[in-house]
Amino acid sequence: MAEGAHRFQVGSIQCTVLSDGYYSYPASWVFPNADPRELTGALAACHQPPDGLLSPYTCLLVETGRYVVLVDTGAGESSATSGAILSRLAATGIRPGDVDTVILTHAHPDHIGGAIDLCGRPTFPHARYVLSEIEWEFWTAARADLSPLRVPDSAKIDIHSMARRCLGPLRHQVEAVERETEIVPGVAALPAPGHTPGHLAVLIQSGGDALLNLGDAAVHPLHLAQPSWENGFDLAPAGAVQTRRRLLQLAAASNMHVMAFHFPFPSIGTVARAGEGWQWSPGW
Ligand SMILES: [Zn+2]
Repeated sequence: MAEGAHRFQVGSIQCTVLSDGYYSYPASWVFPNADPRELTGALAACHQPPDGLLSPYTCLLVETGRYVVLVDTGAGESSATSGAILSRLAATGIRPGDVDTVILTHAHPDHIGGAIDLCGRPTFPHARYVLSEIEWEFWTAARADLSPLRVPDSAKIDIHSMARRCLGPLRHQVEAVERETEIVPGVAALPAPGHTPGHLAVLIQSGGDALLNLGDAAVHPLHLAQPSWENGFDLAPAGAVQTRRRLLQLAAASNMHVMAFHFPFPSIGTVARAGEGWQWSPGW
């Protein structure tokens, strides 16, 4: 398998996680309500500095035999340390024209930036772009209120402008979903609001195996161990924590594998109840 790619089967469905790159954030943006001393200790225990938390960006390629689905598109040109998705796809034998379905868990730059090319055209010319109706309406409205985000104003401005820059050119290829929806056989989009109003999780099921892609319902394994630790990028923090708990309960109770876009590559593993939270065990 090429570098930055990891392949596994969910029943008869072939899945490949693909690294788009990474970015570095202050820990205070990622864990705004954590007790600072407790946070410093928890980060030290996983050998991570509090000032520059490396956050991987990991997309998911799903090949059912009939359909080629990409879940999230990476950051495109919006960051110098990411935007590798097209070369990762090429290394697995997939050209942009082969992708028939793109599922956008939400419209933040690290997930939607790769959906359009440098000329502002859809990167995947034959794909339908699936996202939630609520997400589409939020970002394309005259005014999207990002005041609840606990990140600097400059980051809010970047998030807003990137969403609008990407969604405009996609408008003829967008398929907006309103509720839990099967996108292709074996692949369903589940409403998972909080991080953004229309944030989606993605469930892949085949032959008794299942993979639940959390999107950004948790962006660091510490969000599992400490599920009440919020994420500064959550638009509705209480709702995001509620969604996170619901998805983790579902995964743990049903023995599903879990994927999370920002977890250490290859960003897949399992969860088990541990104290107040959940323990993350990486791997497939
Ligand atoms: Zn993200």
